[in-house]
Amino acid sequence: MPYLDANASEPLRPQARNAMLAALAVTGNPASVHAAGRAARRLLEDAREALARRFGGRPADLVFTSGGTEADGLAIHGLGADRRVIMGATEHDAVRAAAPQAAILPVDHNGLADLAHLATQLAEGPAALVCLMLANNETGTIQPIAAAAALCRRFGALLHVDAVQAAGRMAVDLAALGAHSLALSSHKMGGPAGAGALLLAPEVSHIAPLIAGGGQERGRRGGTPPVAVIAGFVAAALAAGDVTALGPMRDAAEQAALDCGALVCGTGVRLGNTTCLALPGVRADAQVIALDLEGVSVSAGAACSSGKVQSSHVLTAMGLGDLAGQAIRVSLPWNATVADIDAFAAAYARMATRMRRPLAARAA
Ligand code: PLP
Repeated sequence: MPYLDANASEPLRPQARNAMLAALAVTGNPASVHAAGRAARRLLEDAREALARRFGGRPADLVFTSGGTEADGLAIHGLGADRRVIMGATEHDAVRAAAPQAAILPVDHNGLADLAHLATQLAEGPAALVCLMLANNETGTIQPIAAAAALCRRFGALLHVDAVQAAGRMAVDLAALGAHSLALSSHKMGGPAGAGALLLAPEVSHIAPLIAGGGQERGRRGGTPPVAVIAGFVAAALAAGDVTALGPMRDAAEQAALDCGALVCGTGVRLGNTTCLALPGVRADAQVIALDLEGVSVSAGAACSSGKVQSSHVLTAMGLGDLAGQAIRVSLPWNATVADIDAFAAAYARMATRMRRPLAARAA
């Protein structure tokens, strides 16, 4: 049963499972002063230290959240309060929904943000918060974040980077990128769902909370942190490396689809585990269902909106027209095998032949 929907959720890594099982044995609340509380607090702070260092930041500047969506929301709420927001046209809904009035930064046919246009936007008005994702969830396209960060700093703007799909799949280092914040998500790295983090640059570390509560996370996120889930998150983040090694298998899957008449959406610099494949004339949801019936799990458009039938805003922004409703995302998990790709290739060929037969008959 090939699972090729890693960008929706990675399979749980054994390191994450083991870390969670160990942490579940600890009873206390990290806010309590007694020994049990202190044990929980030690687990939490060790996890914070390891995660912050892993992604180029300081432990005091890392805020644990419930996931990537909350980390994006917290960044926009905390950093964007007195600023206009500019965001890339291919941002995830987690970012789009948090700043519905944002000015949009256009992208090219590969989904790359137009930095010359960003310079014009930054020069035009008051101080801005720019939101630009590191790797796109649908196409894997990698944005030139270091260049965007330098531009933002030149104009006194802040840069929030949604690194949810990039973290654990390529080198990600907040300080090296020069950005002001990074959103991270556990379940995209092979950890459990239910945890994420916002890593802040030291100069913007004191942000207002979205959830105030009992003042946890240095007043930046109220609520008792789920210590065992966080332990699993951090173990996964430390185990995850990069996905370059998956590239040849991704390319083989892609070639199999190309041989059946598919087109690849976004062929620039991208994550090695992701491809976005359009089959002209065939609705994306029909492809997903047909492949599911063959036991192959892929998705159409953003995974968070799978189940809804709508064209992908990412592919629309890339100028793909009707193809934006005809593309599936194939994303290889950390444990993908050649047998998975062979099964995908065979299932895709059967699906494409069957689905395109009525189109060919209509054209004849
Ligand atoms: N940002 C991107 C790029 C994503 O792909 C996702 C989830 O698909 C999110 C944010 C939201 O992350 P989470 O599911 O942890 O809330």
